[in-house]
Amino acid sequence: MTAFRLSGKTGTFGILGNPIRHTLSPQMHLAAFEALGLDNVYLPFAVKPAQLKKAMEAIIPLGMRGLNITIPHKESVLPFLDEISLSAKRIGAVNTIEVSAGRLIGHNTDGKGFVKSLLEAGLDPSEMSVLMLGAGGAAKGVAIALLDAGVSEMTLQVRRQEKGAELAKRLYAMSPQVRLSVSTFSPKTTPASTTGRPILLINTTPLGMKADDPLPFLPSHIQANWVVADLIYNPYETPLLIAAKEIGAKTVPGLGMLLHQGVLAFEIWTKQKPPVEAMKKALFQALTDLQ
Ligand code: NAP
Repeated sequence: MTAFRLSGKTGTFGILGNPIRHTLSPQMHLAAFEALGLDNVYLPFAVKPAQLKKAMEAIIPLGMRGLNITIPHKESVLPFLDEISLSAKRIGAVNTIEVSAGRLIGHNTDGKGFVKSLLEAGLDPSEMSVLMLGAGGAAKGVAIALLDAGVSEMTLQVRRQEKGAELAKRLYAMSPQVRLSVSTFSPKTTPASTTGRPILLINTTPLGMKADDPLPFLPSHIQANWVVADLIYNPYETPLLIAAKEIGAKTVPGLGMLLHQGVLAFEIWTKQKPPVEAMKKALFQALTDLQ
């Protein structure tokens, strides 16, 4: 545990969510502030939906310098912002708030963080055909960032057809040249790329967080030339990733997305080059401490 010397000059950052006990963001950002010698703290705030308005109205009076927003407030926070970045507007959700000249500016770094985690692993998503499991909040941000990164073929596999169709419609409106299809979860569906590109399978469902969850995808369909990514970061390696690895596929755990959304938020707040290695080390330590 890092020891902090607080003073009247200490800047306050934090994360709003409910529940918030599971968050690893304080450890990551505190390590970053420490690595750069910045006099800042980062605190978790458990804010119930009914209290969100009051919490948002307190940011400026309390002199807070920046915030992360997590479940369940990423969308409901929008009306309390003075400005919303173009990318957050397209996603319709915010995970980072910049405080600038007494104004609250909303950003979304989740999807870009995911793409950064692929690039860091030496993978170029524009060369792959995406098969995305789930169409919830995180899937939306990730899908938009993938289109921005040049992905031209994407299948959404969902349990509710209408939810997938809604996201597909939104993606198509942004990127009419993309080949999009929606299918419902079925163990019998064998995914295929019509362009012959290797498949990038992304689990955006929560299946894999609990030990007794079923697998979100049949491992027997996974091939050795696939890349399998999971947004879940606890456990670090989900049963899906373990199964994919055994088949010989390359795997990308969700901790990389968590790291890089934080790296991008840190850059927005401090305008400084984030100490990525210190942040990564702190995240691994925080995850180990949770076990
Ligand atoms: P969400 O908005 O609730 O979306 C979850 C999606 O998964 C929905 O499409 C939902 O389908 C589907 N789903 C849920 N249970 C399912 C099941 N049993 N079978 C099939 N589909 C199921 O949640 P979210 O905010 O997108 O988060 C999803 C996951 O991403 C969570 O595990 C979260 O921890 C992780 N995440 C990670 C990061 C990171 O930085 N690594 C960031 C954000 C989120 P319906 O629409 O039919 O309900």
